[in-house]
Amino acid sequence: MGDREHESVSIRWVCDCSRPPILLAIYDDSGRIEIKVRDRYYIARGRLQATCPRCGTRHLLDIHQHAPPA
Ligand SMILES: [Zn+2]
Repeated sequence: MGDREHESVSIRWVCDCSRPPILLAIYDDSGRIEIKVRDRYYIARGRLQATCPRCGTRHLLDIHQHAPPA
């Protein structure tokens, strides 16, 4: 129920094209991805493709490649 804060670490997914880096999304090791677009939040799971609003580079995030084995 109220377990979603349990040991989860939020990781910033950024594009390094500028300083400070452009934040694309925030995800955690449970596979939950939170994307902020303008004033709205979107939730995705597992995989996400995003385009940097600054340089136009396409990024693919696949959390299963980053998560350590349980
Ligand atoms: Zn960029």
